[in-house]
Amino acid sequence: MAQRVQGTEDLYGSYMRAWQRMQDVARDTFGAYGFDLIETPAIEQVATFVHGIGESTDVVRKEMFRVYSGALVDQLLARGSEDALKAKQRLALRPEGTAGVVRAAVQNNFVPQGGAPVKLWYAGPMFRGERPQKGRLRQFHQVGVEWLGASDPASDAECIIMLMRYFERLGFAPESLSLSINSMGDAACRPAYREKVRSFILDHAEEMCADCLERAELNPLRAFDCKNAHCREVMADAPLAPDNLCDDCAAHYAQVKRYLDEAGISYVEDPTLVRGLDYYTRTVFEVEVEGSGVGAIGGGGRYDGLMELEGGKPTPGLGFAVGFERIALALQGQGVELGGEEPECVYVACTPDQREAVFSAVLALREAGIRTEADYQGRSLKSQFKQADKFGARLCVVLGPDEVAAGVATLRDMSSHEQVQVPLGNLSSSVAERLN
Ligand code: AMP
Repeated sequence: MAQRVQGTEDLYGSYMRAWQRMQDVARDTFGAYGFDLIETPAIEQVATFVHGIGESTDVVRKEMFRVYSGALVDQLLARGSEDALKAKQRLALRPEGTAGVVRAAVQNNFVPQGGAPVKLWYAGPMFRGERPQKGRLRQFHQVGVEWLGASDPASDAECIIMLMRYFERLGFAPESLSLSINSMGDAACRPAYREKVRSFILDHAEEMCADCLERAELNPLRAFDCKNAHCREVMADAPLAPDNLCDDCAAHYAQVKRYLDEAGISYVEDPTLVRGLDYYTRTVFEVEVEGSGVGAIGGGGRYDGLMELEGGKPTPGLGFAVGFERIALALQGQGVELGGEEPECVYVACTPDQREAVFSAVLALREAGIRTEADYQGRSLKSQFKQADKFGARLCVVLGPDEVAAGVATLRDMSSHEQVQVPLGNLSSSVAERLN
């Protein structure tokens, strides 16, 4: 039997409905804030992710799925290295959504000089070659937003408020949501801070793991996230970002917090929150669900240098992404079934000689927008009733020779078993009336 790839899932039934519901709530919630839907390709040039996410990040170094056509694989094998390929031949499945949306914004000039900010949201699959475990997949689904062209701290606060409202509308108990925030500084103050953390790690080299020593050179701030408990203990004494902000970054961070306070959003300041992607500047945030055991369900931040890294004009920006699979798990933990019930339907049953009458009745009901099922396997009337129950039909329309001759249909309520006859010409409206 063919098997699906490890770390991927088939989305169907209530799981698929849950994914659709997440998108519906996103459209409603983000729409009210002026965000429009965008869809960018699932494959991009590797360079888009390298420039955007950062060469030193785990996502780029270890987790990106590279994509080659069969002919290119032969070339690669013959030449022994990817270096011989042109940039446009080096492709990867997107590990996250921001780099692609920002690439699209640069390429299509979404934010012309002096123009208004653009607000976009997206939903789709992302791919990372991680070791699969609970809440960590190799193909997972994200909903995210990007707000390009906005520098005001109000946009940071509004983005966070919108994210928290989104989680509440999905059904999370507000008190279970834990929002952490931090400021990572900008091009003016981060290099010096980064250097301080690098020196700190090197001063404690004998106490840190090999990965952290590598991080000291590549991306020292990531040492705050080390899985090794001892490294984290050592890092507890490391210099902290909020103590090393320049005046502008400190003022921006203070204003974001004032807006959050004004909106009544509770948050915890976590001075060690650094997030995994290089592009963040100033505000970063992450949300966890207490007791869910699935890690962060969403996070994001400001990335004022990213448009430039992708070849555009200097343009501020910010955004966040949330993970569908982790949200579904965390909601289940709270007893919330995001996928809900299957939509109700109507079943049209008949005696074998009336199959053609069913054909037109089914068409008419569906034209009226009513979810309608019938038999396509030549079942007996009794077996059709059983099947109607299986479909969870609320109503059964029965067409026998007497009904068809008299131009009527029998409507059978599947729970009370009450039956009434209605004119065939009014079938759709009679059914719709009973469903409401
Ligand atoms: P990130 O882009 O790493 O900040 O991830 C944003 C959100 O996507 C996380 O908070 C998770 O909910 C989700 N996510 C990230 N990586 C995975 C993964 N491998 N499997 C499932 N969900 C993920």
